[in-house]
Amino acid sequence: MKNALVYSDEWTRFDYGPEHPLRMERLDLTWRLMEAYGLTARPGTTVKAPQPAEEAELLKFHTEEYLNVLKAANTGAASAGVICRYGLGPGDNPVFPGLWDAARLAAGGSLLAARMVASGEATRAFHFAGGLHHAMPDRASGFCYVNDAVLAILHLRARGLRVAYVDIDAHHGDGVQNAFYTDPNVLTISTHERGDRLFPGTGFVEEMGEGAGRGYSVNLPLDVLTDPSIYLPAFDAVVPPLLGAFKPDVVVMQLGIDSHRTDPLTHLALDVQGFARAVARISALAPRVVALGGGGYDIGNVARAWTAAWAVMNEVEISGDLPEGFVDYAQWLRLRMTSLWDPPAVLDDDRRARAQEYVDRQVDAIQHLIFPIHGL
Ligand SMILES: [Zn+2]
Repeated sequence: MKNALVYSDEWTRFDYGPEHPLRMERLDLTWRLMEAYGLTARPGTTVKAPQPAEEAELLKFHTEEYLNVLKAANTGAASAGVICRYGLGPGDNPVFPGLWDAARLAAGGSLLAARMVASGEATRAFHFAGGLHHAMPDRASGFCYVNDAVLAILHLRARGLRVAYVDIDAHHGDGVQNAFYTDPNVLTISTHERGDRLFPGTGFVEEMGEGAGRGYSVNLPLDVLTDPSIYLPAFDAVVPPLLGAFKPDVVVMQLGIDSHRTDPLTHLALDVQGFARAVARISALAPRVVALGGGGYDIGNVARAWTAAWAVMNEVEISGDLPEGFVDYAQWLRLRMTSLWDPPAVLDDDRRARAQEYVDRQVDAIQHLIFPIHGL
């Protein structure tokens, strides 16, 4: 098995600002947990630090005008009148020192992962600083400035590979869906909290692609408080059959863990076990994998979930007890973390019935509208 972990300790020098929920510390914490479990130095595992992507690479998806604005904002200062047209400003997408460098580094990491997988240097590559799925060609959106997931898929497509994109972040993968909305060579599947309850407000079953791409954009929206006992059967009813029919050469996975029940920004109720099971299902069906990170605003969850995901991709079982040295480090950060897994939680019957009924209707709609297009 040839696996690659793409990681840079450069991340710690960037900061979206003290009030912003996206904390760069989560990347360092994830690396430390993987390292404590011995998952960064396994035989057959390559660890590579990315170089910032060249501007020419970003131009394959983004407009020159928008990139010029990002470049000018690298100082951390920018004129409010200009930046608001590009989704930038106080709030979700702040202008911070090194913004352009950070955007290029995220893109560079996902491109490196895609390159290693396309060339055969790695069968599975994980770049957990990537997965910034909301960025649009000409504007920032939802904490995302440059869409590294789209750039990685474009790279794989340019090598003639058939790509499926599976996004399990709590938010709809709108930027990636839009990029390939008319393209039948890229199957995008996103599972997420329903768009009438959560940003970005899209991701309904009816958004199923256009023209030749009709049936190649798939959305499975979920009701608030959807837990693993509801999520996994719905996921199984939709994702494996579609991947089986589409037969991708590579699966690009976006592994946001803001679907977790303690995430402060969303309302789903997954746990690390359920998340890891979904990753295992996708991984088992994928000849090659480019895995990316994504959302996750409870940093302890991020470290646990992405470590569990990397163990799954390596097909190794790791102990549920977190390594001692790591527990001490987490305590020093005032994070209470002892187990990789979450304790069980039970949803009240009424809530559960509502979430179940909602997802059943979505699965049914996908099976009626989209499955026939794939001969299912
Ligand atoms: Zn998200």
